[in-house]
Amino acid sequence: MAAVKHNDYSFLQSVNAFVDDASHFVKISPQLLYQIKVCNSVLRIRFPVRIGKDVMVVEAYRAQHSHHRLPTKGGIRYSEHVNQDEVMALAALMTYKCAVVDVPFGGAKGGVKINPYKMTPAQLERVTRRYTFELVRKNFLGPGIDVPAPDMGTDQRVMAWILDTYLSLKPDDPHGYACVTGKPRELSGIAGRTEATGLGVMYGIREAVSVKQDMRRLGLSTGLEGKTVVIQGFGNVGYHSAYFLWKEGAKIIAIIEYDTAIYNPDGFDIPDVKQYWDQNKRLSGYPKAKMEIKPKEKALELECDILIPAALEGQIHSGNVDRIKAKIIAEAANGPVTYQAHKKLVERGVWIIPDIYLNAGGVIVSYFEWLRNIMRVRFGRIEKRFQEWSNRRIIKLIEEATGKKFPEKIITEASEGPSELALVRSGLEETMASTYQQLREVLRRYRNMKDLRTAAYYSAINKVATTYKLMDIFP
Ligand code: GLU
Repeated sequence: MAAVKHNDYSFLQSVNAFVDDASHFVKISPQLLYQIKVCNSVLRIRFPVRIGKDVMVVEAYRAQHSHHRLPTKGGIRYSEHVNQDEVMALAALMTYKCAVVDVPFGGAKGGVKINPYKMTPAQLERVTRRYTFELVRKNFLGPGIDVPAPDMGTDQRVMAWILDTYLSLKPDDPHGYACVTGKPRELSGIAGRTEATGLGVMYGIREAVSVKQDMRRLGLSTGLEGKTVVIQGFGNVGYHSAYFLWKEGAKIIAIIEYDTAIYNPDGFDIPDVKQYWDQNKRLSGYPKAKMEIKPKEKALELECDILIPAALEGQIHSGNVDRIKAKIIAEAANGPVTYQAHKKLVERGVWIIPDIYLNAGGVIVSYFEWLRNIMRVRFGRIEKRFQEWSNRRIIKLIEEATGKKFPEKIITEASEGPSELALVRSGLEETMASTYQQLREVLRRYRNMKDLRTAAYYSAINKVATTYKLMDIFP
Protein backbone atom coordinates (compact mmCIF):
# COMPACT_ATOMS: atom_id res chain seq x y z
CA MET A 1 0.00 0.00 0.00
CA ALA A 2 1.21 3.47 -0.78
CA ALA A 3 2.66 4.77 2.45
CA VAL A 4 0.51 7.77 3.35
CA LYS A 5 1.34 8.61 6.95
CA HIS A 6 0.29 11.05 9.64
CA ASN A 7 -3.20 11.82 8.34
CA ASP A 8 -1.91 13.36 5.13
CA TYR A 9 -4.39 13.57 2.28
CA SER A 10 -4.91 10.42 0.25
CA PHE A 11 -3.38 10.33 -3.23
CA LEU A 12 -6.64 11.43 -4.87
CA GLN A 13 -7.26 14.16 -2.29
CA SER A 14 -3.71 15.44 -2.80
CA VAL A 15 -4.18 15.70 -6.58
CA ASN A 16 -7.46 17.58 -6.13
CA ALA A 17 -5.91 19.90 -3.54
CA PHE A 18 -3.14 20.77 -6.03
CA VAL A 19 -5.82 21.57 -8.61
CA ASP A 20 -7.70 23.76 -6.13
CA ASP A 21 -4.56 25.72 -5.23
CA ALA A 22 -3.70 26.38 -8.87
CA SER A 23 -7.29 27.26 -9.77
CA HIS A 24 -7.01 30.47 -7.71
CA PHE A 25 -4.80 31.83 -10.49
CA VAL A 26 -7.23 30.87 -13.28
CA LYS A 27 -10.43 32.67 -14.28
CA ILE A 28 -12.80 29.74 -14.14
CA SER A 29 -16.37 29.07 -12.99
CA PRO A 30 -16.91 26.62 -10.10
CA GLN A 31 -18.94 24.36 -12.41
CA LEU A 32 -16.19 24.12 -14.98
CA LEU A 33 -13.59 23.49 -12.28
CA TYR A 34 -15.79 20.71 -10.91
CA GLN A 35 -16.15 19.16 -14.37
CA ILE A 36 -12.37 19.25 -14.84
CA LYS A 37 -11.70 17.59 -11.47
CA VAL A 38 -14.20 14.73 -11.54
CA CYS A 39 -13.40 11.35 -13.01
CA ASN A 40 -15.70 10.91 -16.06
CA SER A 41 -16.01 7.09 -16.13
CA VAL A 42 -14.76 4.24 -14.02
CA LEU A 43 -15.01 0.62 -15.03
CA ARG A 44 -14.77 -1.78 -12.08
CA ILE A 45 -14.72 -5.44 -12.99
CA ARG A 46 -14.18 -8.87 -11.47
CA PHE A 47 -13.38 -11.88 -13.62
CA PRO A 48 -12.28 -15.45 -12.98
CA VAL A 49 -8.91 -16.75 -14.17
CA ARG A 50 -7.64 -20.28 -13.76
CA ILE A 51 -4.35 -20.30 -11.83
CA GLY A 52 -2.94 -23.83 -11.55
CA LYS A 53 -5.67 -25.94 -9.99
CA ASP A 54 -7.40 -22.88 -8.50
CA VAL A 55 -9.61 -20.17 -9.89
CA MET A 56 -8.68 -16.63 -8.92
CA VAL A 57 -11.28 -13.85 -9.01
CA VAL A 58 -9.31 -10.89 -10.30
CA GLU A 59 -10.21 -7.30 -9.34
CA ALA A 60 -9.53 -4.78 -12.10
CA TYR A 61 -10.25 -1.17 -13.11
CA ARG A 62 -10.01 1.29 -15.92
CA ALA A 63 -10.65 4.94 -15.10
CA GLN A 64 -11.14 7.57 -17.79
CA HIS A 65 -10.66 10.83 -16.01
CA SER A 66 -11.37 13.32 -18.77
CA HIS A 67 -13.09 13.08 -22.14
CA HIS A 68 -12.34 16.66 -23.15
CA ARG A 69 -10.06 15.11 -25.75
CA LEU A 70 -10.18 11.63 -27.19
CA PRO A 71 -8.79 9.04 -27.04
CA THR A 72 -8.05 8.88 -23.35
CA LYS A 73 -4.56 7.67 -22.57
CA GLY A 74 -2.64 6.12 -19.72
CA GLY A 75 -0.85 3.05 -18.50
CA ILE A 76 -2.06 -0.17 -16.94
CA ARG A 77 -0.64 -1.10 -13.55
CA TYR A 78 -0.31 -4.66 -12.27
CA SER A 79 0.15 -4.56 -8.52
CA GLU A 80 -1.29 -5.98 -5.33
CA HIS A 81 -1.85 -2.43 -4.09
CA VAL A 82 -4.21 -1.41 -6.89
CA ASN A 83 -7.47 0.15 -5.71
CA GLN A 84 -10.12 2.35 -7.25
CA ASP A 85 -8.97 5.59 -5.63
CA GLU A 86 -5.40 5.05 -6.74
CA VAL A 87 -6.44 4.33 -10.33
CA MET A 88 -8.65 7.45 -10.36
CA ALA A 89 -5.82 9.62 -8.99
CA LEU A 90 -3.40 8.24 -11.58
CA ALA A 91 -5.96 8.84 -14.36
CA ALA A 92 -6.38 12.45 -13.21
CA LEU A 93 -2.60 12.95 -13.28
CA MET A 94 -2.63 11.68 -16.89
CA THR A 95 -5.14 14.38 -17.90
CA TYR A 96 -2.99 17.12 -16.40
CA LYS A 97 0.24 15.57 -17.69
CA CYS A 98 -1.00 15.38 -21.28
CA ALA A 99 -2.29 18.96 -21.09
CA VAL A 100 0.99 20.34 -19.68
CA VAL A 101 3.08 18.90 -22.55
CA ASP A 102 0.42 19.45 -25.25
CA VAL A 103 -0.31 15.82 -25.98
CA PRO A 104 -3.88 15.84 -27.30
CA PHE A 105 -5.37 13.09 -25.14
CA GLY A 106 -7.65 12.87 -22.11
CA GLY A 107 -6.28 11.04 -19.08
CA ALA A 108 -6.92 7.42 -18.11
CA LYS A 109 -5.36 4.63 -16.08
CA GLY A 110 -5.93 0.92 -15.61
CA GLY A 111 -5.17 -1.30 -12.67
CA VAL A 112 -5.24 -5.05 -12.12
CA LYS A 113 -4.86 -6.23 -8.56
CA ILE A 114 -2.33 -9.07 -8.94
CA ASN A 115 1.31 -9.61 -8.13
CA PRO A 116 2.83 -10.10 -11.59
CA TYR A 117 6.13 -11.30 -10.11
CA LYS A 118 4.41 -14.30 -8.52
CA MET A 119 2.74 -15.45 -11.75
CA THR A 120 3.98 -17.58 -14.62
CA PRO A 121 4.02 -16.00 -18.11
CA ALA A 122 1.09 -18.23 -19.11
CA GLN A 123 -0.98 -17.02 -16.12
CA LEU A 124 -0.12 -13.40 -16.82
CA GLU A 125 -1.15 -13.85 -20.42
CA ARG A 126 -4.50 -15.31 -19.38
CA VAL A 127 -5.19 -12.40 -17.00
CA THR A 128 -4.16 -9.86 -19.65
CA ARG A 129 -6.25 -11.35 -22.44
CA ARG A 130 -9.34 -11.60 -20.24
CA TYR A 131 -8.89 -8.02 -18.96
CA THR A 132 -8.51 -6.81 -22.56
CA PHE A 133 -11.61 -8.73 -23.62
CA GLU A 134 -13.58 -7.03 -20.82
CA LEU A 135 -12.27 -3.59 -21.88
CA VAL A 136 -13.34 -4.19 -25.50
CA ARG A 137 -16.74 -5.50 -24.44
CA LYS A 138 -17.39 -2.39 -22.32
CA ASN A 139 -16.06 -0.10 -25.07
CA PHE A 140 -13.10 0.99 -22.93
CA LEU A 141 -10.40 0.21 -25.51
CA GLY A 142 -9.70 1.37 -29.05
CA PRO A 143 -7.46 3.73 -31.07
CA GLY A 144 -10.01 6.56 -30.83
CA ILE A 145 -11.49 5.59 -27.46
CA ASP A 146 -8.89 4.71 -24.86
CA VAL A 147 -5.28 3.68 -25.46
CA PRO A 148 -3.31 1.93 -22.68
CA ALA A 149 0.46 1.70 -22.23
CA PRO A 150 2.90 0.17 -19.73
CA ASP A 151 3.02 1.25 -16.10
CA MET A 152 4.26 -0.40 -12.93
CA GLY A 153 4.31 -4.21 -13.30
CA THR A 154 3.55 -4.23 -17.03
CA ASP A 155 5.84 -4.17 -20.06
CA GLN A 156 6.10 -4.63 -23.84
CA ARG A 157 5.04 -8.26 -23.63
CA VAL A 158 1.79 -7.36 -21.85
CA MET A 159 1.15 -4.68 -24.50
CA ALA A 160 1.69 -7.29 -27.23
CA TRP A 161 -0.99 -9.55 -25.65
CA ILE A 162 -3.37 -6.59 -25.45
CA LEU A 163 -2.74 -5.80 -29.11
CA ASP A 164 -3.22 -9.38 -30.23
CA THR A 165 -6.48 -9.75 -28.28
CA TYR A 166 -7.81 -6.46 -29.64
CA LEU A 167 -6.89 -7.31 -33.25
CA SER A 168 -8.53 -10.72 -33.00
CA LEU A 169 -11.76 -9.10 -31.75
CA LYS A 170 -11.66 -6.15 -34.18
CA PRO A 171 -9.91 -7.43 -37.32
CA ASP A 172 -11.60 -4.77 -39.47
CA ASP A 173 -10.29 -1.77 -37.50
CA PRO A 174 -7.93 -0.05 -39.97
CA HIS A 175 -6.08 1.65 -37.10
CA GLY A 176 -6.07 -1.40 -34.83
CA TYR A 177 -2.34 -1.18 -34.08
CA ALA A 178 -2.95 2.19 -32.41
CA CYS A 179 -5.11 0.59 -29.69
CA VAL A 180 -2.13 0.36 -27.32
CA THR A 181 1.36 1.92 -27.07
CA GLY A 182 4.62 0.68 -25.63
CA LYS A 183 4.48 -2.32 -27.98
CA PRO A 184 7.59 -4.21 -29.08
CA ARG A 185 9.16 -2.59 -32.14
CA GLU A 186 8.49 -5.63 -34.29
CA LEU A 187 4.77 -5.15 -33.59
CA SER A 188 4.61 -1.53 -34.77
CA GLY A 189 6.07 -0.10 -31.57
CA ILE A 190 8.37 2.91 -31.82
CA ALA A 191 12.11 3.27 -31.31
CA GLY A 192 12.94 4.81 -27.94
CA ARG A 193 9.68 4.15 -26.05
CA THR A 194 11.17 1.90 -23.36
CA GLU A 195 13.62 4.49 -22.07
CA ALA A 196 11.41 7.52 -22.86
CA THR A 197 10.25 8.35 -19.32
CA GLY A 198 13.77 8.12 -17.86
CA LEU A 199 15.30 10.09 -20.71
CA GLY A 200 12.57 12.72 -20.30
CA VAL A 201 13.40 12.90 -16.58
CA MET A 202 17.02 13.65 -17.46
CA TYR A 203 16.05 16.29 -20.06
CA GLY A 204 13.71 17.92 -17.52
CA ILE A 205 16.30 18.02 -14.73
CA ARG A 206 19.00 19.23 -17.13
CA GLU A 207 16.76 22.10 -18.15
CA ALA A 208 15.97 22.92 -14.51
CA VAL A 209 19.62 23.04 -13.47
CA SER A 210 20.47 25.27 -16.42
CA VAL A 211 18.52 28.22 -14.96
CA LYS A 212 21.21 30.33 -13.26
CA GLN A 213 18.92 32.35 -11.05
CA ASP A 214 17.25 29.24 -9.57
CA MET A 215 20.51 27.43 -8.98
CA ARG A 216 22.06 30.46 -7.32
CA ARG A 217 19.12 30.64 -4.91
CA LEU A 218 19.64 26.96 -4.03
CA GLY A 219 23.38 27.46 -3.58
CA LEU A 220 24.14 25.23 -6.57
CA SER A 221 26.13 25.69 -9.74
CA THR A 222 24.44 25.21 -13.12
CA GLY A 223 24.75 21.96 -15.08
CA LEU A 224 24.45 18.28 -14.22
CA GLU A 225 28.16 17.58 -13.93
CA GLY A 226 29.03 16.50 -10.38
CA LYS A 227 25.51 16.95 -8.95
CA THR A 228 24.82 14.37 -6.23
CA VAL A 229 21.71 12.29 -6.76
CA VAL A 230 19.70 9.89 -4.58
CA ILE A 231 17.22 7.76 -6.48
CA GLN A 232 14.38 5.62 -5.18
CA GLY A 233 13.44 2.82 -7.57
CA PHE A 234 15.60 0.95 -10.08
CA GLY A 235 12.78 -0.25 -12.34
CA ASN A 236 12.31 0.99 -15.90
CA VAL A 237 11.91 4.67 -14.95
CA GLY A 238 14.43 4.71 -12.09
CA TYR A 239 17.14 2.86 -13.96
CA HIS A 240 16.87 4.92 -17.14
CA SER A 241 16.76 8.21 -15.20
CA ALA A 242 19.88 7.15 -13.30
CA TYR A 243 21.60 5.97 -16.46
CA PHE A 244 21.05 9.13 -18.50
CA LEU A 245 21.95 11.39 -15.55
CA TRP A 246 25.12 9.35 -14.97
CA LYS A 247 26.01 9.72 -18.66
CA GLU A 248 25.69 13.50 -18.28
CA GLY A 249 28.15 13.44 -15.38
CA ALA A 250 25.84 13.42 -12.35
CA LYS A 251 26.97 11.38 -9.32
CA ILE A 252 24.41 8.77 -8.22
CA ILE A 253 25.35 8.31 -4.55
CA ALA A 254 22.41 6.16 -3.37
CA ILE A 255 19.85 3.82 -4.90
CA ILE A 256 16.85 2.58 -2.95
CA GLU A 257 15.04 -0.60 -3.95
CA TYR A 258 12.53 -3.01 -2.37
CA ASP A 259 15.24 -4.92 -0.47
CA THR A 260 17.83 -2.32 0.54
CA ALA A 261 19.44 1.07 -0.13
CA ILE A 262 23.01 1.08 -1.41
CA TYR A 263 25.29 4.05 -0.79
CA ASN A 264 28.59 5.22 -2.20
CA PRO A 265 29.63 8.87 -1.76
CA ASP A 266 31.90 8.59 -4.83
CA GLY A 267 28.95 7.68 -7.04
CA PHE A 268 27.92 4.40 -8.70
CA ASP A 269 28.76 3.12 -12.14
CA ILE A 270 25.15 2.66 -13.31
CA PRO A 271 25.69 -0.01 -16.03
CA ASP A 272 27.62 -2.06 -13.45
CA VAL A 273 24.78 -1.79 -10.87
CA LYS A 274 22.31 -2.73 -13.61
CA GLN A 275 24.28 -5.86 -14.46
CA TYR A 276 24.22 -6.92 -10.79
CA TRP A 277 20.49 -6.11 -10.54
CA ASP A 278 19.65 -8.15 -13.66
CA GLN A 279 21.65 -11.13 -12.43
CA ASN A 280 20.45 -11.12 -8.82
CA LYS A 281 17.05 -9.37 -8.93
CA ARG A 282 18.10 -7.42 -5.82
CA LEU A 283 20.56 -4.69 -4.79
CA SER A 284 21.59 -6.12 -1.42
CA GLY A 285 25.12 -7.48 -1.45
CA TYR A 286 26.23 -5.24 -4.33
CA PRO A 287 30.00 -5.37 -3.81
CA LYS A 288 30.81 -1.79 -4.78
CA ALA A 289 28.44 -0.24 -2.23
CA LYS A 290 30.31 1.51 0.61
CA MET A 291 27.39 0.66 2.88
CA GLU A 292 23.75 -0.38 2.90
CA ILE A 293 21.40 1.97 4.69
CA LYS A 294 18.85 0.55 7.10
CA PRO A 295 15.96 1.02 7.18
CA LYS A 296 16.18 1.69 3.46
CA GLU A 297 13.71 4.64 3.56
CA LYS A 298 16.31 6.57 5.60
CA ALA A 299 18.26 7.01 2.36
CA LEU A 300 15.60 9.47 1.21
CA GLU A 301 16.92 11.72 3.97
CA LEU A 302 20.53 11.76 2.77
CA GLU A 303 22.29 15.02 2.05
CA CYS A 304 22.20 15.44 -1.77
CA ASP A 305 21.55 17.95 -4.53
CA ILE A 306 18.75 16.03 -6.25
CA LEU A 307 16.37 13.45 -4.77
CA ILE A 308 14.49 11.43 -7.37
CA PRO A 309 11.55 9.38 -6.13
CA ALA A 310 10.94 6.96 -9.02
CA ALA A 311 8.78 4.35 -7.35
CA LEU A 312 5.44 4.61 -5.58
CA GLU A 313 3.17 7.47 -4.58
CA GLY A 314 3.15 9.04 -1.10
CA GLN A 315 6.84 8.46 -0.32
CA ILE A 316 7.53 11.92 1.06
CA HIS A 317 4.92 12.78 3.67
CA SER A 318 4.46 14.65 6.96
CA GLY A 319 6.30 11.87 8.76
CA ASN A 320 9.65 12.34 6.98
CA VAL A 321 9.44 15.70 5.21
CA ASP A 322 11.29 17.61 7.93
CA ARG A 323 14.28 15.32 7.55
CA ILE A 324 14.52 15.59 3.75
CA LYS A 325 17.76 17.45 2.93
CA ALA A 326 17.73 17.48 -0.88
CA LYS A 327 17.75 20.87 -2.58
CA ILE A 328 15.82 19.64 -5.60
CA ILE A 329 13.11 16.97 -5.66
CA ALA A 330 12.59 15.57 -9.14
CA GLU A 331 9.37 13.56 -9.30
CA ALA A 332 9.94 10.69 -11.70
CA ALA A 333 7.13 8.70 -10.01
CA ASN A 334 3.48 9.70 -10.06
CA GLY A 335 2.40 11.43 -6.84
CA PRO A 336 5.49 10.73 -4.69
CA VAL A 337 4.97 13.81 -2.46
CA THR A 338 1.75 14.31 -0.47
CA TYR A 339 -0.01 17.65 -0.44
CA GLN A 340 1.04 18.38 3.16
CA ALA A 341 4.68 17.51 2.47
CA HIS A 342 4.65 19.61 -0.70
CA LYS A 343 3.53 22.67 1.29
CA LYS A 344 6.34 22.31 3.79
CA LEU A 345 8.99 21.74 1.13
CA VAL A 346 7.94 24.83 -0.81
CA GLU A 347 8.02 26.88 2.39
CA ARG A 348 11.59 25.70 2.97
CA GLY A 349 12.58 26.70 -0.57
CA VAL A 350 13.10 23.17 -1.92
CA TRP A 351 12.74 23.18 -5.71
CA ILE A 352 10.19 20.56 -6.76
CA ILE A 353 10.07 19.48 -10.40
CA PRO A 354 6.54 18.06 -10.51
CA ASP A 355 5.44 14.67 -11.81
CA ILE A 356 2.88 16.00 -14.28
CA TYR A 357 5.73 17.64 -16.13
CA LEU A 358 8.82 15.58 -15.31
CA ASN A 359 7.61 12.06 -16.05
CA ALA A 360 5.64 12.98 -19.18
CA GLY A 361 8.34 11.52 -21.45
CA GLY A 362 6.54 8.18 -21.56
CA VAL A 363 3.28 9.59 -22.82
CA ILE A 364 5.03 12.01 -25.17
CA VAL A 365 6.68 9.11 -26.98
CA SER A 366 3.46 7.08 -26.72
CA TYR A 367 1.84 9.91 -28.65
CA PHE A 368 4.51 9.58 -31.35
CA GLU A 369 3.86 5.82 -31.44
CA TRP A 370 0.11 6.33 -31.75
CA LEU A 371 0.66 8.82 -34.59
CA ARG A 372 3.01 6.40 -36.33
CA ASN A 373 0.34 3.67 -36.13
CA ILE A 374 -2.46 5.93 -37.35
CA MET A 375 -0.28 7.17 -40.23
CA ARG A 376 1.02 3.67 -40.90
CA VAL A 377 4.54 4.87 -41.55
CA ARG A 378 7.84 4.78 -39.72
CA PHE A 379 9.19 8.23 -38.90
CA GLY A 380 12.14 9.03 -41.12
CA ARG A 381 11.09 6.66 -43.89
CA ILE A 382 10.06 9.38 -46.30
CA GLU A 383 12.63 12.05 -45.51
CA LYS A 384 15.79 10.14 -44.58
CA ARG A 385 17.25 9.73 -48.10
CA PHE A 386 16.07 13.16 -49.15
CA GLN A 387 17.80 14.72 -46.17
CA GLU A 388 21.01 12.80 -46.92
CA TRP A 389 20.94 13.95 -50.50
CA SER A 390 20.34 17.62 -49.50
CA ASN A 391 23.14 17.50 -46.93
CA ARG A 392 25.51 16.07 -49.54
CA ARG A 393 24.60 18.87 -51.92
CA ILE A 394 25.44 21.52 -49.30
CA ILE A 395 28.77 19.83 -48.56
CA LYS A 396 29.52 19.73 -52.30
CA LEU A 397 28.77 23.46 -52.59
CA ILE A 398 31.14 24.19 -49.69
CA GLU A 399 33.82 22.05 -51.37
CA GLU A 400 33.39 23.94 -54.63
CA ALA A 401 33.46 27.34 -52.93
CA THR A 402 36.54 26.59 -50.80
CA GLY A 403 38.32 24.32 -53.25
CA LYS A 404 38.89 21.86 -50.38
CA LYS A 405 37.81 18.21 -50.32
CA PHE A 406 36.36 16.58 -47.19
CA PRO A 407 37.30 12.97 -46.43
CA GLU A 408 34.48 10.55 -47.40
CA LYS A 409 34.07 9.46 -43.74
CA ILE A 410 33.23 13.03 -42.69
CA ILE A 411 30.87 13.48 -45.63
CA THR A 412 29.01 10.29 -44.71
CA GLU A 413 28.74 11.28 -41.04
CA ALA A 414 27.69 14.86 -41.69
CA SER A 415 25.13 14.02 -44.33
CA GLU A 416 23.32 11.19 -42.60
CA GLY A 417 19.52 11.63 -42.51
CA PRO A 418 17.65 11.14 -39.24
CA SER A 419 16.71 7.69 -37.96
CA GLU A 420 13.42 7.10 -36.17
CA LEU A 421 15.25 6.99 -32.84
CA ALA A 422 16.95 10.33 -33.49
CA LEU A 423 13.64 11.93 -34.46
CA VAL A 424 11.85 10.54 -31.40
CA ARG A 425 14.58 11.72 -29.06
CA SER A 426 14.74 15.18 -30.55
CA GLY A 427 10.94 15.48 -30.31
CA LEU A 428 11.12 14.42 -26.67
CA GLU A 429 13.98 16.78 -25.86
CA GLU A 430 12.27 19.72 -27.54
CA THR A 431 9.00 19.08 -25.68
CA MET A 432 10.67 18.73 -22.28
CA ALA A 433 12.92 21.76 -22.72
CA SER A 434 10.32 24.13 -24.12
CA THR A 435 7.67 23.08 -21.59
CA TYR A 436 10.06 23.78 -18.72
CA GLN A 437 10.65 27.28 -20.02
CA GLN A 438 6.89 27.82 -20.37
CA LEU A 439 6.31 26.78 -16.74
CA ARG A 440 9.19 28.94 -15.56
CA GLU A 441 7.61 31.84 -17.42
CA VAL A 442 4.27 31.28 -15.62
CA LEU A 443 6.12 31.56 -12.31
CA ARG A 444 7.74 34.80 -13.41
CA ARG A 445 4.35 36.21 -14.38
CA TYR A 446 2.63 35.44 -11.06
CA ARG A 447 4.82 36.77 -8.31
CA ASN A 448 2.79 35.14 -5.51
CA MET A 449 2.90 31.74 -7.20
CA LYS A 450 5.72 30.00 -5.38
CA ASP A 451 6.36 26.67 -7.06
CA LEU A 452 6.59 24.83 -10.34
CA ARG A 453 3.82 22.38 -9.42
CA THR A 454 1.28 25.16 -9.13
CA ALA A 455 2.56 26.54 -12.45
CA ALA A 456 2.11 23.12 -14.08
CA TYR A 457 -1.43 22.66 -12.73
CA TYR A 458 -2.23 26.24 -13.73
CA SER A 459 -1.10 25.51 -17.28
CA ALA A 460 -3.04 22.21 -17.39
CA ILE A 461 -6.29 23.65 -16.02
CA ASN A 462 -6.12 26.53 -18.48
CA LYS A 463 -5.70 24.21 -21.45
CA VAL A 464 -8.47 21.80 -20.44
CA ALA A 465 -10.77 24.74 -19.63
CA THR A 466 -10.10 26.29 -23.04
CA THR A 467 -11.19 23.08 -24.77
CA TYR A 468 -14.47 23.04 -22.85
CA LYS A 469 -15.02 26.74 -23.54
CA LEU A 470 -14.33 26.33 -27.27
CA MET A 471 -16.89 23.55 -27.35
CA ASP A 472 -19.31 26.14 -25.94
CA ILE A 473 -20.20 23.93 -23.02
CA PHE A 474 -19.14 26.24 -20.22
CA PRO A 475 -19.08 30.03 -20.04
N1 GLU B 1 2.31 4.91 -17.54
C1 GLU B 1 2.97 6.04 -18.06
C2 GLU B 1 2.62 7.28 -17.25
O1 GLU B 1 2.23 7.20 -16.10
C3 GLU B 1 2.80 6.21 -19.57
C4 GLU B 1 1.40 6.39 -20.07
C5 GLU B 1 1.28 6.32 -21.58
O2 GLU B 1 2.27 6.24 -22.28
O3 GLU B 1 0.14 6.35 -22.04
O4 GLU B 1 2.78 8.38 -17.70
